Amino acid sequence: MLSPNSSYRIDGATPEQQALVDELASSFFVSDEKIASIIETFRQRMREGLQADGLELKMIPAFIPHRPTGRESGSFFAIDLGGTNLRILRVTLKGNSQVDIEPQKYTLSEEAKSGPLFDFVAEKIGAFLDERGLLPAKDDPPIPMGFTFSYPVNQTSLTAGTLMHWTKGITAPNCVGRDVVRLLHDSLLRRHIKVNIVAMLNDTVSTLLGSAYMHPGTQMGVIFGTGTNAAYYERLDQIPKFCAPLDDPAASEMILNIEWGGFDTRYSVLPATMHDIKLNRKSPNPFQQAYEKMISGLYLGEIVRNAALYMVDQRLLFNGRSSSILNEMWSIDTMYLTEAISDSSSDLSIVKDILEKTLGLDPTSLLDRRIFRAIAIMVGERASRLSSVGLVSTLLQRPELLEKHLIVGIDGSMYEFLPQFEERVYDTLRRFLSPDQFKNIRLILAKDCSSVGSAIAAMFYGSTRK
Ligand code: BGC
Ligand code: MG
Repeated sequence: MLSPNSSYRIDGATPEQQALVDELASSFFVSDEKIASIIETFRQRMREGLQADGLELKMIPAFIPHRPTGRESGSFFAIDLGGTNLRILRVTLKGNSQVDIEPQKYTLSEEAKSGPLFDFVAEKIGAFLDERGLLPAKDDPPIPMGFTFSYPVNQTSLTAGTLMHWTKGITAPNCVGRDVVRLLHDSLLRRHIKVNIVAMLNDTVSTLLGSAYMHPGTQMGVIFGTGTNAAYYERLDQIPKFCAPLDDPAASEMILNIEWGGFDTRYSVLPATMHDIKLNRKSPNPFQQAYEKMISGLYLGEIVRNAALYMVDQRLLFNGRSSSILNEMWSIDTMYLTEAISDSSSDLSIVKDILEKTLGLDPTSLLDRRIFRAIAIMVGERASRLSSVGLVSTLLQRPELLEKHLIVGIDGSMYEFLPQFEERVYDTLRRFLSPDQFKNIRLILAKDCSSVGSAIAAMFYGSTRK
């Protein structure tokens, strides 16, 4: 990659403006040497997390040793609670890696995110079944469902585990430290909705399962979205801390949820800038999810906002004037960064709309827009390069898998929409893996796979449990 300064020349900038842009560019620049040392630390912390509980990388057992074949069939129900939406679905597995999905999407309201979240979920499950005439009557058996829950859970069985802490801006009270499946069952029970959660899965775990069904050869499930994390199959003999029985006594591996968003919580190797530190301090979960806060969708807009205000305060952007919206935390949704980076019009008209209409700034100059777009690009570029760290480290944890073609199933708005994200990830993988390893890797968009994986778990475990 180019040296940081030369890539962010701003046409028409004054020397003072250019100097400040250069300063930002070099603070957001992560060299190859730095990436190499972060990978080394990441790998070390993965190994530690396999040894013992409660460390920085949680390496959480998913209690699922099975691999889908793509030939599974039948209709199953899934609940998929993410950072932005709740989805309830009926998924028909057609036995040939194909699916039919009947989804219903509910946006998580601010009220649900900070209030009785499980009541909200139960209510929507009831509505979903009711609208389809599927609500079990009093004497009917409960409907088995898979439950994808995209937060860190200290899982003690397939259907039990306590919430460690909320991430992605959720603050619903009375949940941390409690059993998540119990909480949902209780909310369902209070509404007389006869549904049985037969498997609880992290979204990376269900993405892995769903992607393995739809794209045989999948070895990792990854989310680069509102939050970030990954799951992979680890050999049981590599997980000394795990001694619980699995439903398949002959199993030699099991899915692990890395919870990599929590990597380097004390910023010992991550190259945090003052803009990251400020975000961390003011976030609802300071000193948690440090890695996530540098790479995932919930946060990039806020980093850009902090960096832009840093220039405003020195009177080198927007004539030194902010707006009440720009002064508010979280006011820049990462979607706007994606749009700003993609803007190829000569007058940057999309950036103009974002700044003036959405952020309420005074009429902006073309120079302002160029600078704002450059900041968005820097933050996006750093996010893409740092995202590769987790991928490289996890793939190297099972180097034997890299000897054959393998697929990494990735879902999430960063991967799907951030310009050049995928190219930069490939580019970083190429630098940190051997050519033989690199040529075997294919990244694919695992859209809907987390829901499909949840349905697959309902299939695997629905009949064996009451
Ligand atoms: C959560 C993970 C989740 C990831 C992606 C993170 O904030 O801690 O459990 O897998 O987001 O949704
Ligand atoms: Mg999701």
